[in-house]
Amino acid sequence: MIVERVSRNELPQGYEEALTFDLKKDKKLVVWLNVLSVFALIPFLPLWFWMTWKMNVQVDPSLNLLLLLIGIVVMLILHEAVHGIFFKLGTDQKVKFGFNGLFAYAGAPGIYYKKKYYLMIGLAPLALVSLLLIVLMLLFREVALLPLYLIFVVHFSGCVGDMYVCAKIRKLPDEELLVDTGLSMTAYTRSKETPKLDE
Ligand SMILES: [Zn+2]
Repeated sequence: MIVERVSRNELPQGYEEALTFDLKKDKKLVVWLNVLSVFALIPFLPLWFWMTWKMNVQVDPSLNLLLLLIGIVVMLILHEAVHGIFFKLGTDQKVKFGFNGLFAYAGAPGIYYKKKYYLMIGLAPLALVSLLLIVLMLLFREVALLPLYLIFVVHFSGCVGDMYVCAKIRKLPDEELLVDTGLSMTAYTRSKETPKLDE
């Protein structure tokens, strides 16, 4: 069963907290991630200007803005749903969804995921939602290329937090266990004296 291989419901003996990212407590991290997500927009600007110049689209701006907002909300829900599905595929416990007034989140408090699987939870929305948006852009390039491209870019920029955390834990040992509440992530390391867990 996949659940037993990728997560545990209790922290094994001899494991200790090694690293933590807490969006509720660490305001510096929040500011830093916001700065990074603005920088993440830059590589997409030239293509945006090229497309708007090339297409010279005439649309009702109010309608477009409304559709764009709806699209962004759908994208956010989809993003968290993908995290949630991957959290759930790796545990027999409950997965949590929430909204803190600023952003939606998915998490699995009390579940200790193995590092490799956790990387998949973290990066699955970036891969799958981006892929979906690319397919939609190809299918609807005549009518909705620009709004879909904007949603794609906003989504990519919103994935900066996921990418940041995954980049930080990538180098940790494979046996590392990670707990994600949706607003914080804590990594636990096996202490030197503790024998390896049976796989
Ligand atoms: Zn995410």
